[in-house]
Amino acid sequence: MTPHDPTTTGRSRAPVIQKLLGDPRVAQARLGRRIGRLPYFTRVESATGPLTRMEGRDILNFGSNNYLGLANDARVIAAAQEASARWGAGVTGSRLLNGNLALHEELEEALRRFYGRTGAMVFSTGYGANLGLMSSLLGRNDRAWVDEEMHASVLDGVWLARATMKRFAHNDPEDLLSQATQEDLPGLCVVEGVYSMRGDRAPLRRFLEVCRATRLALIVDEAHGLGTVGERGLGTVEEEGIVQDADFITVTFSKSLGSCGGAIIGDADQIEALRVLTRPFLFTASNTPASVAAALAALRILQTEPELVRELKARVSSLREALTARGLRPLPSDGPIVSVEVGADFDTLQAWRLLWNRGIYANPVIHPAVPAGRGLLRLSVMRTHEAQMVHTVADACADVFSDLQLSQQGQGKVTS
Ligand code: PMP
Repeated sequence: MTPHDPTTTGRSRAPVIQKLLGDPRVAQARLGRRIGRLPYFTRVESATGPLTRMEGRDILNFGSNNYLGLANDARVIAAAQEASARWGAGVTGSRLLNGNLALHEELEEALRRFYGRTGAMVFSTGYGANLGLMSSLLGRNDRAWVDEEMHASVLDGVWLARATMKRFAHNDPEDLLSQATQEDLPGLCVVEGVYSMRGDRAPLRRFLEVCRATRLALIVDEAHGLGTVGERGLGTVEEEGIVQDADFITVTFSKSLGSCGGAIIGDADQIEALRVLTRPFLFTASNTPASVAAALAALRILQTEPELVRELKARVSSLREALTARGLRPLPSDGPIVSVEVGADFDTLQAWRLLWNRGIYANPVIHPAVPAGRGLLRLSVMRTHEAQMVHTVADACADVFSDLQLSQQGQGKVTS
């Protein structure tokens, strides 16, 4: 059926609906479904662990953000169950009105203490935390300086504010410095502690110096750094010693904490100002009791058992070593994300498919998430992966690269 066909009800479609159905991305997805298995919207049929039931098979899962395995921790699950029993399935209201549970305030208190800061503000998603922070801090005449590999939640917040978006080269504070010194407008700079696609870490100390010199506020998104980087798992802000210096730190509960939701952490006076200004906070229902209690339980586990972070790091090192030993060249990274460059989008999707056929789930990363021709296979390590699983995935990756003859392009394999 073409977008111009009448619907089955006999009505002709409004132009906006025609535009929706005619979008080239929709057409592409339709074509993809016709020619075979796409790597998206895979149906998951069990809890997300190292082995996850997907589309009728037990799949070795190297594509999940359940880094510390806490989504499946009995204490976290019990906390969620108890909270549902005590507080109900939902809050049926926003924080502003009837949805401000003591539980939300308890989690805010725990988060601000964990980071040793004076304020924290909890959102229903990590996406909402970034959207809210950018859209409240920025106005039409302001500038947002963002890394060229920045997550969509930050970009959407800048667009919502109708502020001017300025990009600097990935992880390059000197590029920021040379561009930002030419302007004298209120602005902020956003970086990720650990980047979601390549897993590399931002040089935060230098970014802080540059922000001070150019009078930009510094915001660090620790979505992938919380629970994975630093002795205590605070993220790259801890590793680089700037926990107190970043103007705001944003986190999500949907990765290491195994739940759902997000937060902004910073100074109390600024957080209190945000609380009354932030539309993605004010005009949406607050996070469910189960999600908040699970995040709180997971945070307490992380605080009392920092060895979990060390165990994760050991697993990550073993995957990097196993890949390198097989001639592959994982990109430099610090957190739980280990990416290997494949190259063209088509090859990247093929590589994903060959892994899937062998019972392994990873994430393909293609343009526009990365520059064209620099597609990646992204492997995400869980603390709960067994040693043997790491070797199985490394063997499979080596076979896939060899089957696709990727070494000849010098992409993922060491060619010398
Ligand atoms: N920031 C980054 C860097 C992320 O990778 C993500 C999630 N992929 C988010 C924010 C949004 O978090 P959530 O999925 O919990 O809404």
